[in-house]
Amino acid sequence: MENMNQKCPLCDKKLRSKRVFYKDKVFASGDIFNFEAKRKLGHKDYARGDCTMDLHQCLACGFIFNKSFNLAKMKEVYTSKEYYQQKNFTSFLSKNILKIKDKIKSLASKDDVFLEIAPGHCDLLRALAEEFKFVYSVDPSPTALNSLKLQNTLHIQDFFDAKSIKSYLKHKIDFVIFRHLLEHIENPRNFLKNVVDFLDYGGKIYIEVPNVLEIFEHKKFYEFFHDHFGFFEENVLINTLEDLGCEFIDRYFSYEEQHMGLFFEKKKEVTKRDLPLIFFNDETYFDASIKEMNAHLLNYENIAIYGGGDSC
Ligand SMILES: [Zn+2]
Repeated sequence: MENMNQKCPLCDKKLRSKRVFYKDKVFASGDIFNFEAKRKLGHKDYARGDCTMDLHQCLACGFIFNKSFNLAKMKEVYTSKEYYQQKNFTSFLSKNILKIKDKIKSLASKDDVFLEIAPGHCDLLRALAEEFKFVYSVDPSPTALNSLKLQNTLHIQDFFDAKSIKSYLKHKIDFVIFRHLLEHIENPRNFLKNVVDFLDYGGKIYIEVPNVLEIFEHKKFYEFFHDHFGFFEENVLINTLEDLGCEFIDRYFSYEEQHMGLFFEKKKEVTKRDLPLIFFNDETYFDASIKEMNAHLLNYENIAIYGGGDSC
């Protein structure tokens, strides 16, 4: 079944994997729905997309990823106007952002310089700028940061690359942050290695991603959408970062464990612990929950879904 030369995008070993979830005709993105005019209610593929979720779990490192991820379709989404128009700017900081900021504060010193990759609304970045020496953001698109005119911030409009980014910097970076980015990246090992290489020893990393164990625990099949290439359990990320030369230092889980935040520090020597992993091998695991939801929906003729994913 598997391509002989295919490697796992996280552990880089020759891929041996097991399917954990499959759904065809899903939307490329849970943020943008392209309903084609020719399709009408009642047509077979009405309200279905043209991408596939074929989630496999690597038997070596436990990473779960979409083997049918369509990068070209995702690029169309990311460059579409609609996608960025949704990124509205808010003027107040959520309690969650302030809690993350406080957690970071407990692990950093006030002279630390931060770099946040893909800062989205820039809300955490603004909170950090109030407390720390300097904060950089990196994103290929312009960010809300430019309109804030904070003295101790700089937006670098580019992709993150360990080598090229240094030409923009006036400081040594002590802390790299990326929240809800890693799950979108189809070569997560390269990306993580790039970040680790960029830091000096003692440099810290904060990674926040959806917690896949929480998705499995509550059978939330609707949390699997094509936007996300990869899904991580805590020990998968810890084992990977230990392998790349970082020590696990702390965790911050939010929204009832739905968001998993992990802190790491780059060290000269790291003890690799090979923490135990949970493997899923029943590809019908979510079927009963999908059936149950469809049975509920059958009772209604018109349904408005608020905040709906694209995998139902
Ligand atoms: Zn792997």
